Amino acid sequence: MRNSGPQSGPLLAALVAACAVLGSVAVVVSGPAASSVIGPDIGEARVSFGEHSARVVEEVSYREGIERVADLALVDGRPIGAIDNPDVEAAWAIVDSVWPDSIRQDLAQLSVVSERPRGLVGVVHLGGNGGWILSLDRADLADEVLVKETIVHEIAHVATLSPDSFTFGTDVPCSGVSMEVGCADAESVMARFAERFWPDGMATGLSADYVDDYAASGPHEDLAETFVAWVSGWPVGSPEVEAKIEMLSTDPQLASLAASLELRLG
Ligand SMILES: [Zn+2]
Repeated sequence: MRNSGPQSGPLLAALVAACAVLGSVAVVVSGPAASSVIGPDIGEARVSFGEHSARVVEEVSYREGIERVADLALVDGRPIGAIDNPDVEAAWAIVDSVWPDSIRQDLAQLSVVSERPRGLVGVVHLGGNGGWILSLDRADLADEVLVKETIVHEIAHVATLSPDSFTFGTDVPCSGVSMEVGCADAESVMARFAERFWPDGMATGLSADYVDDYAASGPHEDLAETFVAWVSGWPVGSPEVEAKIEMLSTDPQLASLAASLELRLG
């Protein structure tokens, strides 16, 4: 998950820059504090097929205040048919420009949502068929920098919380590393990251150890935000953050994704 709540560091600078270019008034940083929205939004979708079964759209149970606007079912990461909703069209244009070919098959659905009050930018859920559902808030779609960085963040989740190395749930048997959202298989990059940088499961309390405030909300968010910092080339002045990027860069899949994303983000 990624929220537009209080941010610090390069992301905020990017947001301010974007606002300045657009000449707009404050359009961000209106959400709840990041610490108040940590929870099950990244996880296994509580999926139902209901009235949308004809379109093979899965319904996700979002947190309170989030409303579904429209969905786009995907096969191998591509739309099944024509896109007839302007919000979906705008969202898909950004996703299609960023999402690497090597993990296209993992993307099963794009959903556009709306939250009141503002907070969410994007979130991924693991759907019932093993594919991922990416949801983006339509209110942010004009802010391409924010949305692209959020997609990179969600891609980090897709790569490191995939069913072949991670089991969602709060009470799952775990021989690897147990986390708030589930169990990371031993020796997986998520497990190694959590063991090294979150040895007791708690944030250090030192802001310099994290790329931004949201990264300090949990090991999986730390990994995802650090991946964004790496791919986006945020200036890093902290040895701890440098060590995190160095560790992630030794993982072959993340290194490959980072190279693809750097090309796609230009
Ligand atoms: Zn996240």
